Amino acid sequence: MKDISAIYQAISAANESILYATSLDTFYQGMSNALCENGPILGCVVYTPSDSSANPNCAAFAGARPLAVSADNVGQSFTEVLFVESVLKSGKPDIRNFLAHHRMLSERDGQPIGIASALALPLKLEKDPSFGVVIFYSDEENIFDEPVITLLTRLLNNLIFAVNKFITEFARREKEIFVHANGEKYRNIIDSIEDLYYEVDLHGTLLYTNQAFARMLGYECQDLVGMNYRQIQTEEVSLRVYKVFNAIYKTGVPTASFDWELVRKDGEKVMLEGSVQLTRDAQNNPTGFCGILRNVTELRRMVKALRDSEFRFRALTNLSSDWYWELDADFRYKRIKGRQTKADLHQDSLIGLRPWETPFEIQVSGGWKGFQLMLSSKQSFRDVICHRFLQDGSPFYISISGEPVFDDEGQFEGYRAVTREITEQKIAEERIQYLATHDVLTKLPNRVMFSQLLNVEIPAAKRYNRKFAVLFIDLDRFKVINDTLGHIAGDELLQETASRFRSILRESDVIARLGGDEFVVLLLEADDVPSIEVVARKLLSAAMSPHVLAGQECRVTSSIGIAMYPADGEDEQTLMKNADIAMYFAKEEGKNNYQFYSSEIQSQSLERFMIEENLRRGLEREEFSLYYQAKVDLKSNTISGVEALLRWHNAQLGPVSPIKFIPIAEETGFIIPLGKWVLKKACEQNMAWQKQGLPPLCIAVNISVRQFSDDNLLNDIATVLHDTCMDPHLLELEITEGMLVQNPTRAINLLTSIKKMGVRLAIDDFGTGYSSLSQLKEFPIDTLKVDRSFIRDIATNADDKAITNAIIMMGKTLSLMVVAEGVETMEQETFLRDHACDQMQGYYFSKPISADDFTALLCAHSKKM
Ligand code: C2E
Ligand code: MG
Ligand code: MG
Repeated sequence: MKDISAIYQAISAANESILYATSLDTFYQGMSNALCENGPILGCVVYTPSDSSANPNCAAFAGARPLAVSADNVGQSFTEVLFVESVLKSGKPDIRNFLAHHRMLSERDGQPIGIASALALPLKLEKDPSFGVVIFYSDEENIFDEPVITLLTRLLNNLIFAVNKFITEFARREKEIFVHANGEKYRNIIDSIEDLYYEVDLHGTLLYTNQAFARMLGYECQDLVGMNYRQIQTEEVSLRVYKVFNAIYKTGVPTASFDWELVRKDGEKVMLEGSVQLTRDAQNNPTGFCGILRNVTELRRMVKALRDSEFRFRALTNLSSDWYWELDADFRYKRIKGRQTKADLHQDSLIGLRPWETPFEIQVSGGWKGFQLMLSSKQSFRDVICHRFLQDGSPFYISISGEPVFDDEGQFEGYRAVTREITEQKIAEERIQYLATHDVLTKLPNRVMFSQLLNVEIPAAKRYNRKFAVLFIDLDRFKVINDTLGHIAGDELLQETASRFRSILRESDVIARLGGDEFVVLLLEADDVPSIEVVARKLLSAAMSPHVLAGQECRVTSSIGIAMYPADGEDEQTLMKNADIAMYFAKEEGKNNYQFYSSEIQSQSLERFMIEENLRRGLEREEFSLYYQAKVDLKSNTISGVEALLRWHNAQLGPVSPIKFIPIAEETGFIIPLGKWVLKKACEQNMAWQKQGLPPLCIAVNISVRQFSDDNLLNDIATVLHDTCMDPHLLELEITEGMLVQNPTRAINLLTSIKKMGVRLAIDDFGTGYSSLSQLKEFPIDTLKVDRSFIRDIATNADDKAITNAIIMMGKTLSLMVVAEGVETMEQETFLRDHACDQMQGYYFSKPISADDFTALLCAHSKKM
């Protein structure tokens, strides 16, 4: 039979006992005693949260307890452990109402103790997340029903309220004692320090913290007091802290540096480092712990970042082929990290050496000395290239970049730097550089490199008062070889010529290929004209000795122009230009020779330039005209023919002699359209005279070498004859001996074709070339014009007389018409007539004159007849 009033009584006695308690322990004990004395409660056991383990401690008990409790009855009973665990796990009451027949509970030491039911209730303290358990035993079965549990729970709530009050009050009292003992002075000092100061009792309840501590955790000081240290730490850290506290408690030895992790009010974690030591009372009994903590969150974060970066750096250096290294303040390698790339480059062997004591060469101005200066002045350096040769002779290039290192006080500590291997890149660069500065075909330096070398030499020569020469070499007739034998043969010729030139020059001389068939030599050690001439002659004969190309032996000659430093120019441009001018002059002088630059050459070359510039537009500007010079029959003294001679009057240059402009028109190829124009104009004029009723005349037109080798020549002649309707017999083409000798087979074919058209052929300026009269038999020639040079001195010079006579005789035997050119005097005319020369041409009879004048001359003459 349940006696509720007895329970009420017991609970009110327990409530009362709580009021009179003086410490926490008497508190629990008083309640237990009161409960057991007055009613159906047989026993009461209080378990409070443990400092050392997850299992609560038995803090107080009264009355009967079940079996298996240790001798002093303080420890835990096995069955109670089960109750406690079940409550801690569920956080709810554990009710066992029918235990009368459980011997383990109802008997003790063989004697019945009468426990028939049990109730375990959670004991939850306000500021402590962990909680205890209170177990009630009764001798009455089924006593712990709903109303009784409510009553007991209310009792425990009172207890909790009281305990909290008690703890706060206890802490306040302890603090008062401390303050009283140490005085306001220490409190102020402790509150003013930046480090965190704390004091806890032996249970870990905070008794005192300074302002810094509260600030750090986001609390007010008074909030913290009374809190358990577990409430401001994670469980894991609490356990660790407990162990430390415990060890200090046992040994009394304080720790100076202990790692804490506290949890702020806002949940954020703070890393701290600090000390723990025991606090003692007047009797030297331990009362708790105190210590100083320092916030090391930032420090730890930095250390971690540093460690991470060190790790990343190590990983990087392991991955890349770069090396990281450091020099000490004495510029000696103190640390080298990175992958070993080459077998014979041991990084360790460099430690202790200075960079300039290693087998590397450096590529900065001033070499290692310059680098030392840079280091001494604590400058950073970037992409400095060093190289060395490995044991197998292969080059090894590195690029280094570094910066000085200073400590916090600004004291120089050395350098830190990185090295990157750039061998492949460097070799590729060198190859590109080689290609950019060399001619691929001949392997000689090219124009770019020559220019660089010349620009190095000029200031050096200036400083040391030295002279040097620039020789421009151009192969003569190279184009003909290229055109006739093909490009491969042309290339071979250039290669061979280049190596011949190179072999006769000294090492110190430079030879470069400027392009095409142009070479240039920088002659450094020959500063007087005679020694330069020796080299020039050697170059000429080197070019001239025969080449075998495409199975054919052929010869090329060369023309050389020479400019001297400083007389002919003090800069690259002038020197090159003047050597070029001199070379052109050598060409004009008949090729296969050398010429020194001079100011006369300069003016000629300027003229040449002007002619070239203006010639091309001469046709459209109608600056060309034809003059006509009569040929006279020496027997009948009548005009037997006429030669058309080209005239050019340019607005800027005035009248220009064909002797000057014809060779230029030849070279530039302009002679082709110009020659066509002459042919057409001459035929038109001849037809015009006929149309005027004048007697038909044979008109001679000069054909140049270039025209002769032009494949369209036949066609052009046919077209003009067709267009003008002139009788082909009235046209005579004047060619020179040279054209016949060069390619005789082609010449014969072409001349035969022309002949077939009915056009006459003459050899102009006969006697100046190398052809013999006997050779002429082969060609279908009609007329031989004896060169003016034989006629000039014919009256006085016996040789000229003999030669002219022989030519006339031979011409006769070959049935050729013989014409003497340049007849200026009666004596000459007489001689020619006496020696049966057929015709004459020259100023004596008539100068070349305009078409109108010639019309008049022709009119006058035909009337005379
Ligand atoms: P060439 O064909 O031998 O012409 C004769 C040259 O001798 C002409 O010079 C003429 O004016 C000059 N001459 C004639 N009689 C005398 C004389 O008694 N005394 C002197 N000192 N000279 C005399 P020009 O007109 O100056 O022509 C020079 C050369 O230019 C020509 O020599 C010819 O080779 C070339 N030429 C002229 N016109 C043409 C042309 O239309 N086409 C080509 N391809 N060449 C031409
Ligand atoms: Mg002529
Ligand atoms: Mg002539």
